[in-house]
Amino acid sequence: MQKLAIHGGKPCRDTTMDPWPKWPVWGKEEEMALIEVLNSGVWSYNGPKETEFNRLFAEFTGTKYSICTVNGTVTMQLALEAMGIGVGDEVIVPGITWQATAATVIDVNATPVLVDVLEDTWCIDPAEIEKAISPKTKAIIPVHLYGAFADMDAIMEIAAKHNLYVIEDCAHKHGGEWKGKKAGSIGDVGSFSFQLSKHLTAGEGGSMTTDDSDLAERLDALRNCGRRPEGDSLIGADKGIGDYGDDGNFIQSGNLRITEFQAAILVEGLKRLPVQNATRDANGDYLNGLLKEIPGVVPLKRDPRETKKAYFNYAFRYDKNKFKGLPIKKFRSALEAELGIVVDACYEPLNNCPLYVPHTKPARHKLNETYWAAIDPKRFKLPVCERIFEEESVCLHHKILMGTQSDMDLIAGAIWKIYGRTEELMTQS
Ligand SMILES: *Cc1c(COP(=O)(O)O)cnc(C)c1O
Repeated sequence: MQKLAIHGGKPCRDTTMDPWPKWPVWGKEEEMALIEVLNSGVWSYNGPKETEFNRLFAEFTGTKYSICTVNGTVTMQLALEAMGIGVGDEVIVPGITWQATAATVIDVNATPVLVDVLEDTWCIDPAEIEKAISPKTKAIIPVHLYGAFADMDAIMEIAAKHNLYVIEDCAHKHGGEWKGKKAGSIGDVGSFSFQLSKHLTAGEGGSMTTDDSDLAERLDALRNCGRRPEGDSLIGADKGIGDYGDDGNFIQSGNLRITEFQAAILVEGLKRLPVQNATRDANGDYLNGLLKEIPGVVPLKRDPRETKKAYFNYAFRYDKNKFKGLPIKKFRSALEAELGIVVDACYEPLNNCPLYVPHTKPARHKLNETYWAAIDPKRFKLPVCERIFEEESVCLHHKILMGTQSDMDLIAGAIWKIYGRTEELMTQS
């Protein structure tokens, strides 16, 4: 049998000869669109590309409104602001997610309440949401993490019962569907990121989707210095609704607009997305089947209510007991060497995440002693999050799902190879 790549053997994939599919994906279409914007001189401010993308993305997500802003962090901050959430309010957030999901809550002076996740999907646990609800709770931000979907049936039921807003963090779910409804169309607002790693990207960017014309009007204003929607900036909105009065600015805000260059790339990327998602779905499904055969390897649960899959990373669970006690870090390094691609753990739980440290910014966040204590991440107990991060999570970039079925065979083969040689890994450094 072949020596392990980490010990100098031949890797399962020699990526110098045979690289993985590249990400991002672009072509002549993007090139032409960028040149078109350049030559038009209209580089920003509710331009034709942004307006077109807003219309297309609303259509794609099955929502009435889609509003672009600078990234998938500001999207959540503006959603909270549009909902009037701030001082004295609590927002429930899962313990495993990118730090932005919780940090934006602090940025509007509200308190993030971190709750544990389900071990089979790594998404927020509805039973833990129920336990965390207090009279101060105003919203829930479920995250559709990696390849999984938060249980939106249970979450919407809890939200209705307690009169809470729901912001779906869809940074990993462009195009995913729950019982035929697109991610971002189930809660009150969908928050999307178009950062480079995401599966619809313009390098940076974000979008907020909603069916609520009142929220849409405020979201549009919040990303545009507080101006009321102008011209075509908010397609389909009833202008002048709500009780803000009819003229002038009606809400304080700053400039959080995207450029036409980003919008141009997004318009083209959105055309590619359905086929890319379908490829990732087919490969992911096939790979899940292969991994189920391997002892100690469990793919994330695919909920039957998830009618259309959208993968960000490809993630699975590892059980070292089936690998003769091989620590997960050694497993990931060995797999990384075999595949020639980064093999990561999941996001670090937010109660111990080096990028989620609100106490480093007292001038901004120390509103008073009570608040200062309430936003201490360490006060939350997240045993499932911690176990997943420390002992179980294995994550690969979604580009591995963009190739062929034989690529999937190769990934499974690499894990089998490690499975057969755990003793070597235990004894050699
Ligand atoms: C990427 C990401 C964000 C933030 O998006 P940016 O565009 O990078 O600001 C928020 N939530 C999750 C789950 C993400 O993965």
